[in-house]
Amino acid sequence: MSSAVVESSPVGMDCSAYAQGLYIDGKWVPGGGITVIDPSTGNSIAEVADATVEDARAAVDAAARAAAGWRATPPRQRAGILIKCFELMMQRQEELAYLIALENGKSLVDARGEVAYAAEFFRWYAEEGVRISGEFMTAPAGGNRIIVDYEPIGIAVLITPWNFPAAMATRKIAPALAAGCTVVLKPASETPLTAYALAALYSEAGIPDGVVNVITTTNPGPVTAAMLEDARVRKLSFTGSTPVGRLLLAQASKTVLSCSMELGGNAPFIVFDDADLEAALDGAMLAKMRNGGEACTAANRFLVQEGIHDRFVEGLTARMKALKVGPGTDPDTGCGPMITRKAVDKIEALVAEAVGRGAKVVLGGKGLDRPGYYYPPTVMVDVSPHAEMARDEIFGPVAPVYRFKTEDEAIAMANDTEYGLAAYIYTKDIRRGMAVSSRIESGMIGLNRGLVSDPAGPFGGVKQSGLGREGSHHGVIEFMEAKYIATSF
Ligand code: NAP
Repeated sequence: MSSAVVESSPVGMDCSAYAQGLYIDGKWVPGGGITVIDPSTGNSIAEVADATVEDARAAVDAAARAAAGWRATPPRQRAGILIKCFELMMQRQEELAYLIALENGKSLVDARGEVAYAAEFFRWYAEEGVRISGEFMTAPAGGNRIIVDYEPIGIAVLITPWNFPAAMATRKIAPALAAGCTVVLKPASETPLTAYALAALYSEAGIPDGVVNVITTTNPGPVTAAMLEDARVRKLSFTGSTPVGRLLLAQASKTVLSCSMELGGNAPFIVFDDADLEAALDGAMLAKMRNGGEACTAANRFLVQEGIHDRFVEGLTARMKALKVGPGTDPDTGCGPMITRKAVDKIEALVAEAVGRGAKVVLGGKGLDRPGYYYPPTVMVDVSPHAEMARDEIFGPVAPVYRFKTEDEAIAMANDTEYGLAAYIYTKDIRRGMAVSSRIESGMIGLNRGLVSDPAGPFGGVKQSGLGREGSHHGVIEFMEAKYIATSF
């Protein structure tokens, strides 16, 4: 069986307006060297500037020059600028969504959703930024008072991946700015255009020069190291893979840098016999197929109880089969291309390895013979818990289904991973749902929900999925230091 394929190609978009150069101190520093590829064709769509170590130092210098002024800007005024960013993003939702669909490959529906989600961080932190309060108490021994003030932590280096080119950036920039910090953003080299489109928008919204700087590079190791070694930088906020996260944590130790790490995941999606089947299937499609499976929160393992297993597989296969595969920019597309050829090769290798261990392919399972980096929606059953795809992020439209008998078995399988980002549980018994939630080692749980991301909720992982939280009031505190003043009066 195979999924339907949309043959139409995306409408052309002139990307030169988004490729004016590095964005440092409110100015465009022209350059080239990074070719941006449309993953639906494999063709080049733009060339953006490739920052050197000197450019990175210039960006930190700009952030340092802007720091005192931004810190002193009244929270209400900062909030007004953040709200303007929200409004401009929503006014340009279609343009930004098209750009994301073009350079990332996700469907337009997903891209529109991402723009709305990304913009919401500006609105949320505009509201949060005027409500940051300190603490005041009498010391338990009496005689003196304890005052705690929250201050901006200082210059922040922000590093983001390609899978949510807008949201991963705004999820860091908005709280950093609300806290009173200035930033240097290094977006992924695969999807720089969205980051630069947003940089132009920030300037229009009134963010002063140097408060947000954006640099892309083909040399992320040395360029990032140059920034992290600078003693004026006091925060690293990274979203990306666990291996790169480990490397950056080691580098950050040299200057004892505060680190927030949003890393990889291996989400279990547990369906109990008593689940509402239709709701579980709706949730499964969201948890698996948002971004074509290229999400850190993507359901990576479907753990399904034996009584509902066959009906779940049948329903999931029908829904996956109905998805149209095509360019993200085609309005009919339900599953766009993967980001790179390398990503497709990895998925193919994981599927082959699992098949070698006895897994059966019910749908898809083979790369598509067409230009671009496509992999079709795939459903597999009888997957061994020892298969590599049970431990590694698939990051693609592949749904491996594992069968379980008891609640304890499901929990043991769910926790058998170094990751702990998101997990999903479907059951009509809310008491069981809450009890299982408390036993799952994960930072976030979707209980009868296939989506956890919300700017008002604390997003983040346990175990090797990360450190710290983004979103909610937790997100802004990550960019602040508590200052304790002991005083008597
Ligand atoms: P990645 O390879 O770790 O890259 C992420 C960012 O780090 C990119 O900007 C990349 O730059 C940069 N980078 C790579 N090597 C570096 C180095 N030596 N020093 C400094 N920076 C370096 O991850 P990815 O493939 O882009 O993204 C997918 C991963 O991100 C998955 O593991 C996914 O689970 C995770 N993710 C996590 C969350 C979360 O919130 N927990 C959200 C989204 C994604 P270049 O692009 O130039 O290589």
